[in-house]
Amino acid sequence: MPELPEVETIARGLAKRVTGDVIESVWLGRKKEPLKSPAPAIAAALEGSRIANVRRMGKHIVFDLESVGRTPSSANENVARALLPANGRKVKTPAGKSVRPTQNSAQWIVHLGMTGSLRVCEPQTEIAKHTHAILTLASGRELRFVDPRRFGRLSVSAEFDATGIEPLEIDLDDFVALFRGRKTPIKSALLNQNLLRGVGNIYADESLFRAGIRPRRRAASITRDQLASLQAALKEVLQEAIALGGSSVSDYVDAEGNAGFFQLQHRVYGREGEPCLVCKTSIKRVVIAGRSSHYCPKCQK
Ligand SMILES: [Zn+2]
Repeated sequence: MPELPEVETIARGLAKRVTGDVIESVWLGRKKEPLKSPAPAIAAALEGSRIANVRRMGKHIVFDLESVGRTPSSANENVARALLPANGRKVKTPAGKSVRPTQNSAQWIVHLGMTGSLRVCEPQTEIAKHTHAILTLASGRELRFVDPRRFGRLSVSAEFDATGIEPLEIDLDDFVALFRGRKTPIKSALLNQNLLRGVGNIYADESLFRAGIRPRRRAASITRDQLASLQAALKEVLQEAIALGGSSVSDYVDAEGNAGFFQLQHRVYGREGEPCLVCKTSIKRVVIAGRSSHYCPKCQK
């Protein structure tokens, strides 16, 4: 499953390749699972829109769209107007803030799930099995969404907002505040998407190891200094992984599945029974809230 650094890498790769391109037409497959918004709403929001930007939000890929007034028919435009606000996910309307979406802007939100991928290809490229969406671009290329296991999700929104705070942007005070009074294990709190967005199992384990904190420790019992180490470790592992992925970006987007994709050298994740890289103690695995957690019983307290 792609985690935050992979999604960041993929979003950057897509931004390089498709920003500025115009979506001329959209084909959507018949399988219902990948479509989190109704197919007509997705097609209406995408067709005739320019891709203004592609970015990551949590583990979602967000395509910011601008209407270029080339919507194929006014009927479609009406569908977009009628369906977008009602079906867009988590449209924020905080009191006192004018965030009413206009009909001229929308967002296409892609969650890759377990096996989803977005591929930029030439139209003559054979259509892979499990292709659920094909966007025909004005540049002559196509952007295809392929997902064998169908846990990925496509939706459109007027103003998408993922839950939680970006782990790469949060400051120390806010980070400390997230865990105050929380009786859950720190590992569960790190994975809680309402607190931090996009932190997955691997990076939670790796950052806890680097910070010397056992995954089962109660979040509330961890001192501010230790949380400062944890925050630094979390940013460090995510940024290292993003940096590693940078060079293989275009391969990933073009290639079949995961070809050419990097992996961070794990220090504890998936290393049960192997010697700790610091102290040689055997790495332990425990299950916390249904997820495997790996740690060194000597280095982590
Ligand atoms: Zn150790």
